[in-house]
Amino acid sequence: MICPGCFQDTDLAGYCKKCLKNLFDGKKVAHILPFNSPYNEPSDLYRDLTKKMSISGVQVKYSMRLEGDKLVLTDTGGQYILKPIPAGQFKNLDQAPANEHLTMQLARQLFNLEVPANAIIYFNDESPAYLVKRFDVKGDGSKFQQEDFAQIAQVTEETNGENYKYDLSYEEIGTLIKRHISMYAFELEKFFRLVLFNYVFSNGDAHVKNFSAMRTEVGDYVLTPAYDLLCTRIHSPGESDMALMLLKDFTKTYEAQGLYALPDFQEFGKVLGIKESRVEKILNEFRGKDESIDHMIDRSFLKDEIKSEFKAYYKDKLKRINAI
Ligand SMILES: [Zn+2]
Repeated sequence: MICPGCFQDTDLAGYCKKCLKNLFDGKKVAHILPFNSPYNEPSDLYRDLTKKMSISGVQVKYSMRLEGDKLVLTDTGGQYILKPIPAGQFKNLDQAPANEHLTMQLARQLFNLEVPANAIIYFNDESPAYLVKRFDVKGDGSKFQQEDFAQIAQVTEETNGENYKYDLSYEEIGTLIKRHISMYAFELEKFFRLVLFNYVFSNGDAHVKNFSAMRTEVGDYVLTPAYDLLCTRIHSPGESDMALMLLKDFTKTYEAQGLYALPDFQEFGKVLGIKESRVEKILNEFRGKDESIDHMIDRSFLKDEIKSEFKAYYKDKLKRINAI
């Protein structure tokens, strides 16, 4: 079967050895949970957990931890986040777990972005969910100190109104990275790559709170692994290309054509202070990969018509990045 973690063929029924190691420290955890999805579970299994979840966001998420080789729902000591199919007004929501999983795997396997271990897992009623390992929890259960960039910039609903998450530009997040992270040259390249990835794969919800920095064991700050990556256009076809403005002021191409193209990203690299040759190197990482991207999309758990949409969206964006 296809591994519900990495899409490789595996003889095992469930996760391949490598995914078992990455996700569960090698424990043989099943890819099917012994209970139903929240919409279908007659018992009160979820009752107290739904209310107590403290992780912010609109989507209902559950916290899980390993007990032996079994994943259990928990309200304390969570090591994983479980995101079932969300409920709401958006389109194709039954495809959301497969969409997030595919986008995160593309980031991890083809674009050199650091992302936490993640996989598709199924409920007993066959409904899929997205499962991701928490990167802020250490082996002993204690947590890394972390702050998102709304906290770092000190923008809140009180100071900036209800749209505060969308109030900074990516350029301004870059300025904050320079100010708060000592190894910023390396982190800015990571940030540039991630913003470009979000653009190419139509992640239109990469707002200020979806970027965070964390304190490492040695006491310095680094960007956290990337999280919440998905092609939001599948669910919200009319939304704008990016959650935030690329630059504080309008760029030339954006002003002329209403869309971002190669010169905008070259300028973005420049204002972040990344060497031109490094910017070109990162841009090149997005070229000539269509075949491997398509292959991964084909292996994903999206349904066929959504696979075609996913392909069309990223090819359209890549055309803009490749044209001068
Ligand atoms: Zn695998």
